[in-house]
Amino acid sequence: MEDDNFEVPIKCLFCGVVLRGPEDAKHESGDLIECQECGEGNDFYSVIDVAKEDATNIVKEKLDKTLEKTIGNLFK
Ligand SMILES: [Zn+2]
Repeated sequence: MEDDNFEVPIKCLFCGVVLRGPEDAKHESGDLIECQECGEGNDFYSVIDVAKEDATNIVKEKLDKTLEKTIGNLFK
């Protein structure tokens, strides 16, 4: 893949808003990431897990498009 630059939003587990920590924040395992919207503490591992799933879906979509293109080219 040439353009494998994509951003995976880290989302609040409670309200679904994209979490934005302070610029200099360093999150470590076991930390709670406080949501700026609802104020709930998000478990570090849980948000990473959800983000991984999102990332997997993004990659799958890209793959689908690439394959469609490839197959399309076969029948030109
Ligand atoms: Zn929230």
